[in-house]
Amino acid sequence: MSQAGEQGTLFVISAPSGAGKTSLVAEMLRQDSQLGVSVSHTTRPMRTGEQDGVNYHFVSRDEFEAMIAEGDFLEHADVFGNYYGTSHAWVRETLATGQDVILEIDWQGAEQVRRLVPECVSIFIVPPSAEVLRERLIGRGTDAPEVIERRLAEAEEECRHAAEFDYLVVNDDFGVALADLLAITRAQRLKMSVQQLRHGKLLAGLVSRD
Ligand code: GDP
Ligand code: ADP
Ligand code: 5GP
Repeated sequence: MSQAGEQGTLFVISAPSGAGKTSLVAEMLRQDSQLGVSVSHTTRPMRTGEQDGVNYHFVSRDEFEAMIAEGDFLEHADVFGNYYGTSHAWVRETLATGQDVILEIDWQGAEQVRRLVPECVSIFIVPPSAEVLRERLIGRGTDAPEVIERRLAEAEEECRHAAEFDYLVVNDDFGVALADLLAITRAQRLKMSVQQLRHGKLLAGLVSRD
């Protein structure tokens, strides 16, 4: 349960396509019940195995543009020729319950969120090499060869923005990368500014004897 005034932390995670962010975030959620992930809206076609409302809210370009006009997005961007966007209402409401929220978004979205929510914590995930990235995209088996080539070309552009993030995680060994990510979320919760809200009464009680 969240205490009055407690506000969750907004984590922004970016990575080149195929670096492993979706698999890592899914495992973080399994291990940490205080974390939630925002389900983005997108106009890209659904992949085999994906479910509407679970992996993404799949919408048409017209629907997406209507949502932009309504101001429904905290951020949105054109990635690989498709629109992707984060629901403002869901993020705001979830943070207000004290839950931490992860956004899995591209560097353009991360830039927008950093401007709007300066206290957010941003993490960039990289693969151990460009060759491994290619192998993972091929191995995942979800994208046509031309889509993979486009994503690899864009990976370089995405990685140019790595230094804009607070943390860098190398996803070579999956377990190590997962532990690194969980260490970041845990350390954030132990920050004085966050702990003062959670343990205000304890701190006040410890200094109230004079
Ligand atoms: P994947 O990265 O290989 O899993 O492919 P996706 O098609 O799921 O995502 C493609 C890109 O869009 C990735 O760089 C994501 O981080 C990014 N993306 C996903 N959702 C959002 C969003 O809501 N906003 C923004 N700006 N980017 C997003
Ligand atoms: P992203 O969401 O960044 O595009 P995914 O989570 O879909 O990446 O991962 C891409 C592929 O690489 C998937 O098939 C996943 O199982 C695999 N993968 C992720 N992390 C590792 C790792 N540390 N070692 C080997 N394979 C991995
Ligand atoms: P539920 O129906 O259980 O509340 O939500 C199901 C899933 O959809 C949750 O994982 C939640 O993240 C996501 N979700 C529900 N409403 C919204 C919304 O308005 N925007 C976004 N981005 N995700 C939502």
